[in-house]
Amino acid sequence: MAILAGYWVDVDKMDPHKYQCAHCDALVGPESGYLCDRHEGSGLGKVYICPNCNRPTYFEFIDGITQIPSPRYGIEIEHLPEGIEKVYIEIRDCMSHQLYTAGVLLARKLLMNIAVDSGAKEGENFVTYVDFLETEGFIPKNGKDWVDAIRQAGNIATHKIPSIDKDLAEEVVTFLVFLLRIKYEMPGKMAKK
Ligand SMILES: [Zn+2]
Repeated sequence: MAILAGYWVDVDKMDPHKYQCAHCDALVGPESGYLCDRHEGSGLGKVYICPNCNRPTYFEFIDGITQIPSPRYGIEIEHLPEGIEKVYIEIRDCMSHQLYTAGVLLARKLLMNIAVDSGAKEGENFVTYVDFLETEGFIPKNGKDWVDAIRQAGNIATHKIPSIDKDLAEEVVTFLVFLLRIKYEMPGKMAKK
């Protein structure tokens, strides 16, 4: 995301706070922003301005600390084709908002796209695509149990309503990240050199 050009008027100097900015994904530790103070006791909330993208994030100190907008789940992957990147970001957003079934359904879709990008035929079912990726060597030999878990996750997501829990969704996304790196990021990095 491009930097928000301009400057924030009358910012206060505050204690530095380290967080992952939801706007630009960077890990930052700004020292300026705005404080919502009260007459007695500590402050209620703070707005920090990201030194990387210049966008504000609100922290509320009621029942612990809440960051709004909350950081995106997972990591940024480089060299993704535009369409793939868009869906991958959507999956990360689903995960940061606890929308695990939606995230896994999108992950399924992305796995199919990766398979088709790697030469599989269009219009096949999910299991066929996972098998394809396995046969083509994208999945390591000792990753068989993992792949079976993903296959099951795929089936659950299609035939029943929300049975995807956090752990399963995280496994699926971890697997997806691994594939995206092998398929797009590594070749992209090699090509640069
Ligand atoms: Zn930022």
